Amino acid sequence: MSQLAMSSKSITTASGAKPRVLVVEDEQDLQDLLRYNLSREGMDVICADSGEKALELARQKLPDLILLDLMLPGVDGLNVCRTLKNEGATANIPVVMLTAKGEEADIVVGLELGADDYIPKPFSPRVLVARVKSVLRRTGAAEVDSNPEGMITLADELVIDTERHRVTVRGEALNLTVTEFG
Ligand code: CA
Repeated sequence: MSQLAMSSKSITTASGAKPRVLVVEDEQDLQDLLRYNLSREGMDVICADSGEKALELARQKLPDLILLDLMLPGVDGLNVCRTLKNEGATANIPVVMLTAKGEEADIVVGLELGADDYIPKPFSPRVLVARVKSVLRRTGAAEVDSNPEGMITLADELVIDTERHRVTVRGEALNLTVTEFG
């Protein structure tokens, strides 16, 4: 089961690359915390501390996901979201808003503008990472980890062995016929 342990954290895009996440956060401590936690999960993290920089990096680097603080100096998060969702090249990049207490109205506006999810501050880094991964999977920007031997691991528990046509859940084999497998 060592393979399970090894593969449980990694997440890649369809092309096998690390998912690129743009973190937009003007508070340096928080930006560092996000960079550390997302990088540790195998993501390519780029950071912006203003709305202007966020727009520039989003257009240049076309990230797989944008983690967007709403209250930013200069162009605020909602305007960053509105601008990106109105431009062809960036319109489909999933946006997850980072929101503070009292921003309920902004959350609603952001979701209507096309943001995919929001995470209220203060947040647990583990929950944040899990939600980022979930949005990456849901939007198709990232795939469930697989290895060259044709083994696909889902949710750390379900293993599909495409070579042997065998499926195991927590190490227990499921009785599937070849037809069911196909
Ligand atoms: Ca802020």
